[in-house]
Formats: sequence, C-alpha cells, structure tokens
Amino acid sequence: MVGFIDEKLVNNILEENQNPKKEDCLEIIKKAEESKGLTLEETAKLLQTNDQKVIQVMFKTAKKVKERIYGTRLVLFAPVYLSNYCSNNCLYCAFRKDNRELKRKTLTMNELKKEIEFLIQQGQKRVLLVAGEDLRHTNIDYLEEAIKTVYSTKVGNGEIRRLNINVAPLSLDNFIRLKNAKIGTYQLFQETYHYETYKKMHPQGPKADYKKRLYAMDLAQKAGIDDVGIGVLFGLYDYKFEVLCLLLHAQHLEEEFGTGPHTISVPRIEPALNAPVSTNPPYPVSDQEFKKLVAIIRLAVPYTGMILSTRENAQLRDQLFSLGISQISAGSRTNPGGYSESEKEKFDEAQFKVHDNRSLSKVIKDISNMGFLPSFCTACYRSGRTGDYFMQFAKSGNIQNFCHPNAILTFKEYLLDYADEEMKKFGEKVIQREIQNITNPKIKELTIKKLKLLEDGQRDLYF
Ligand code: SF4
Repeated sequence: MVGFIDEKLVNNILEENQNPKKEDCLEIIKKAEESKGLTLEETAKLLQTNDQKVIQVMFKTAKKVKERIYGTRLVLFAPVYLSNYCSNNCLYCAFRKDNRELKRKTLTMNELKKEIEFLIQQGQKRVLLVAGEDLRHTNIDYLEEAIKTVYSTKVGNGEIRRLNINVAPLSLDNFIRLKNAKIGTYQLFQETYHYETYKKMHPQGPKADYKKRLYAMDLAQKAGIDDVGIGVLFGLYDYKFEVLCLLLHAQHLEEEFGTGPHTISVPRIEPALNAPVSTNPPYPVSDQEFKKLVAIIRLAVPYTGMILSTRENAQLRDQLFSLGISQISAGSRTNPGGYSESEKEKFDEAQFKVHDNRSLSKVIKDISNMGFLPSFCTACYRSGRTGDYFMQFAKSGNIQNFCHPNAILTFKEYLLDYADEEMKKFGEKVIQREIQNITNPKIKELTIKKLKLLEDGQRDLYF
C-alpha cells in the first residue's frame, strides 16, 4: 500500500467481482441512471462484464447521464507546449532525456505570444499549458511569466480567458504562486497507479518518486487550487485496476478536501519518437474496452468532467463524445511552437502522435452536425464557481441553467469573430436549435437579449 492506493484492496475487489451476473450488472446500471455514482465493487463488476447486451445498456445509460448533466455541450480547448526539455526518462514519451533525436526547444515569451495569437485567431478561449520537467528551462519564474504572457495577449476581440496547466509536481509555495497567477485547473496524471509498473516506466529523474506525484493534488489543494485534474495513461497496466485507482484517488480528494477532481483525463498510449513502450504497450486497450471504460467512468463519477485529447482518431472520438466526454482538445499540436511555425505536425519535436488532425473549425462543424453544442465558456472559474462550490452547483442541476446558455453565447462570439460565411449560416441554425433547449423561460429570454448585445458589438457576456 502506498498512501491511499491499496493495491491489495483493488485486486481483491476485482477478484471478488469477476464474471458478474447479467442481472446484477443491469441492476447497477439502473441505479447509475440516477446520477448517484458507483461504488468500487459495482465499478469492478461493470469493468468485468463481457455481456454485449449489458454493454449496450451501459453505453445508452452513460449517454443519458451525460446528457442530463451536461446537455449537448462539448467544451473546446487547445494544448500549448512550452518546452520539450525533460530530466525524466519515461519509457512512453518522446520528451524523455535519452531521446537524442528529438529537437529540443523552450518557447521564448515572444514565441509563446505568437502561439497564443494563432489560437486566439482560430477562436480558442481556453488553453492548457504543458511542459516537460526541467528546472533549467521551465522553473516557476518561467511559468509565471508564461501565464502572464498568455493572459495579456489580445487580438481584436479575442483573448484567452482560462488557462489550465499540466506541469510536474511543485512545492507548496510554488503551487501558491501558480494559484496567484490565476491558473484554472492544475492537471497532473499519475500515468499508472500500479507501483511496480510505475517504477519500471519511470527509471530516472524526479518523476521516479511515485508518492510525490500521488500527493501533488493534495499540495495543490492546500495551496488553494481547488480545481484539479487527474488521469491515467491507458496501456501501461490493466485498465480495470487503473479505473478503480482513479476512483480511489477521487474518493481520497473528496474525503480530504470536500470535493473530488474537477476532471479526469483518459489518454491512451500513442507512438512517440524513440519511446520504447509507446509502440508496444504492455497492456494495450482495445477501442471497445476504451469505450467501455469511458462509459463506466461517466457512470461512476457523473459530475466530474472527462477530457479527451487528439491522440484518438476522429471516428472513435466522435463515438466517445456521446459516452461521457465533456471537454476536448481540437486542432492540437504537441510540439513547442507547433501552431505558429508550421502547417504540419512535427513528429521529431512532438510528445506523441496526434490522430485527429481536423482543424478547430472542422471539429466544430462535425460535432454540431452530431447534435452537440461547441462551447468556449470560461464563466465558472471567473465567477468563483470552482471546487466544492462548482460541484454543489452542478449537482443541483445548474449546469443546464448556466453552462448551456453560456455555451450558446460563446459559440455566437465564435461565429461573429472567426467564422466564414458558410460556417456563420450553419452555426446560426445550431444556435436556434439550442435556444429551444433552454427550459427556463426567464433564462431563455435573457439569453436572446444577450445574443442581441453580442451582435451589437459587446463581448464576454455570461451568466
Ligand atoms: S512524460 Fe513528462 S516527465 Fe516523462 S519524459 Fe515525457 S515530458 Fe518528461
């Protein structure tokens, strides 16, 4: 047992709930439909069913739960890679220090500004800053300056309104500095919760310390960062074990700080340059298993956002959106300078291979056609609706009353400022469709008023 991860307990739960009965699984799914979550035992049963009928019911229920809580919204963001220097040697990552072929780069503030200008001109309002772990290149002073640069970059009506960050664990004092610099979510993935596998995958560098990583979210919370995002790199160890550990992590945060993680990310290993494990993962997760685990996480922690990156191909991503994903990156580059420098992905500078290469506008069109509403909303963070307060707000059904109209308003801004004529026409139809989905007449009326104000030139209107 390391900290709150009790491997013996997890293995016992998996063993005791093997070969679950179909009726038991259907009963669990029925209960989950009420958005009350799942116990570890219930989750273990669903993870271990192979009954196709049960899996189909599970998918339908995950979709229902997602629609009830999140409506049709899908929140969009873009990652921005600050630096690919790294002092670790993770066997699945191209940034590993032994990769001599990788072209290394740390963005200067001028280069970062150009990246942000590019994204603003695409219509993005949210970014996730990412950096390898190397104090010579991306220490806290650098990160603070980078955050300032992002928030102060403006192009026309556009700006980045929420900045999340994925960097190595920091000291309490440095987390406080991040908090004061006004980050949104602090994101960090354990990669694998399985101790032996963790040790093997992280042979050198500060990341070799399993426990330090495990408790990074506790420190972030103590520093006042109450939106934290956890995740696993699927493919390193048995996905069933990892899903139960994600839930243990969520429970731990809830017990300690009164609220679970704001988001869970579900990256799956992808080929990366000179990263031996990336092309031959020890526990590959099939597409069907991946869909299943996304649906189960949605049922287990219904109010926790779930993030999907462009590692997955467009076709699979489109299916996963319905099963529980609430936030997606789009038009991503995973190399520092990747947006402003080149039209094409540069694999010899990137962290991993991107499989959904659609532009932001193409993703917007595709998801709208599927009945989703693209959202660039950043209102909660800026209105103080974070951490426990956000969860209470979400649980009382307010995501529909606030987030849905906010999504409409931000999509309208996108259409006014960044869309071509064809997209504008198409988008207006989406907006009309979504206005009809606002059930509260007062909110509907106010939304229509705000849409008019946007047309008259106002910006950044939200509930
Ligand atoms: S996964 Fe992170 S810590 Fe590991 S080599 Fe890549 S960038 Fe460095």
